[in-house]
Amino acid sequence: MHTVTYDFIALIAITLMLLALQRAGSTALAYRGTHVITCPETGEPAAVGLAVAFAALTATFRNPLMRVQTCSGWPERHACNQACLREIRTAPDESLVPNLVARWCRDQSCVCCGTAFEPVPTGRHQPWLMSPERQVFESKQVLPQKLPEALRTCGPVCWTCLMAETHTW
Ligand SMILES: [Zn+2]
Repeated sequence: MHTVTYDFIALIAITLMLLALQRAGSTALAYRGTHVITCPETGEPAAVGLAVAFAALTATFRNPLMRVQTCSGWPERHACNQACLREIRTAPDESLVPNLVARWCRDQSCVCCGTAFEPVPTGRHQPWLMSPERQVFESKQVLPQKLPEALRTCGPVCWTCLMAETHTW
């Protein structure tokens, strides 16, 4: 009888532990990466990194607690009230750099061949940026906090054009 009870308790404990691990894992996935937001204090873009381990740990007990770990506006504004967290919390994915680039591509076509980005390629094949001076570069070559400005002034170049050796930029 006792053995059965202990087995049962162990089973519940393991289930709870797995659930907690799953919550921690999905929180870590959602909150990792660099978030580009508009700083509520300065009105300027800022690149924010969240305390992922802290969020994941607290997510196992309750709703994840969010804390800014790095910000391009620091150390000057290190004493800020981290009001940007409100914006990030509502849609953590929206402010991630690759998603910013994907959103920028969605309504545009390649500046070289005119092909629409349907669907927007991700990862290694994500479109590059072409500046008005016809310089081509990858989004990760831009400081994240400078990305909104770069996306405003640049056009997207598709992977095929990028790889074409006979391009005439
Ligand atoms: Zn193209």
